[in-house]
Amino acid sequence: MTTALITGITGQDGPYLAELLLSKGYDVHAVIRGQNNPKLPMVRATVPDVILHTGDLTDITSLVRAVDASQPDEVYNLGAISYVAWSWDNPHVTTNVTGHGVLNMLDAIRLHAGDEANRVRFYQASSSEMFGKVQEVPQRESTLLWPRSPYGVSKVFGHYMTINYRESYGMHASSGILFNHESPRRGPEFVTRKISIAVARIKLGLQDTLALGNLDARRDWGYAGDYVEAMWRMLQQPHGDDYVVATGVTHSIRDVLDVAFRHIGVEDWSRHVTQDPRFMRPADVEELRGDATKAREVLGWEPNVGFEELIDMMVENDLSEQSVQAR
Ligand code: GDP
Repeated sequence: MTTALITGITGQDGPYLAELLLSKGYDVHAVIRGQNNPKLPMVRATVPDVILHTGDLTDITSLVRAVDASQPDEVYNLGAISYVAWSWDNPHVTTNVTGHGVLNMLDAIRLHAGDEANRVRFYQASSSEMFGKVQEVPQRESTLLWPRSPYGVSKVFGHYMTINYRESYGMHASSGILFNHESPRRGPEFVTRKISIAVARIKLGLQDTLALGNLDARRDWGYAGDYVEAMWRMLQQPHGDDYVVATGVTHSIRDVLDVAFRHIGVEDWSRHVTQDPRFMRPADVEELRGDATKAREVLGWEPNVGFEELIDMMVENDLSEQSVQAR
C-alpha cells in the first residue's frame, strides 16, 4: 500500500487531495497544528479515514516525528499561511510558516530517510503569487519570479528550496505552481467565496450589500478538485520537476459578480456592491494567467470545471449553507 503524508489538511486542498488518495487505496496521514484546532471536527467529518499527527511547520521535531510515524512514500506540503492580504500585517510569521516551513519539511524527510531520502517523493505547493508583477503573459515555468507580497516572497523561498534539494540531493521533489483555485471549501476571506456567501445571503434577505476592494483585478480561476489531481500526477513521474497548473483563462472580480448575481436572478448588481479602501492592497497583482502546456503534455492533466460552473457551484452551496444557518 502507498502511504502519503499531507500538511495543510485543514485548508481547502488538503481534504480534496486526501479524498483523491483514499479513493486510490492510499494510506493517508496528515499533520494538524495546535491543541483543539477549531478545524479538527471539519477534517474528521470530511475525511474520517485520514490518520492525524499533531505538528507544526515551524517545529522540525514535530515533522520528523510525523514522518517517522507515518513512513510516507509521498509527502504533500500544502501547509501555509495563505492569505495574501494578511501577509503585509504579519510578514514574519508568514515567512516562518510559508517559507521556512518548506525547508523544515524537506529536512525532516532527509533526517528521517538519510541517504534514502530520494525514495520519498515530495510535492511543494507553490503559487502563482510568485509571479506578482508579471514579467510576461501568460506565465510559464521559466517566467522570472517577481513576488509582490510577503506571502509571495515566502512562496518563492519554498519553491527554490524545493528545486535546490532536488538538485543538491537528488530528491524526487516537485513544485506545482498553482494558479488560484476555488471551491465551496474555499476560505471566506478569499474573494470568490466572499462573493458567493454574500450573494447567497442577499438572495435569502440576510444582507443587502457587499464591500469589496479592487474590482478590476484579474485572476486565472480553476476548481480545486481538478488541481489536486495535478499534484498527484507530478509525484507519479520518474523525476521531480516544476509545473504550472492553470486554466489559461482570466476573469475580473466584476465577472465573478456577474455570474454570481445572475445565479440569483440579478442582472445589475451595482446597488449591492460598494468599494472599500480597507480591501485594497498595498501592491496588487493585476493579471495572472497561466500557461499549463507542460502539465498538459507531460502529466496529461487538464481542468474539467469551467469558470461559470465553478461560481454557480459555490453560490449553490452557499445558498443551502446559509439557509441552514438562518433557520
Ligand atoms: P489571491 O489571488 O490569493 O490574493 O486571492 P484573493 O481571492 O484573496 O484575491 C484575488 C483578487 O481579488 C486580488 O487581486 C484582490 O485585490 C481582489 N479583491 C477585490 N476585493 C477583494 C476583497 O474584498 N477580498 C479579497 N480577498 N480580495 C479582493
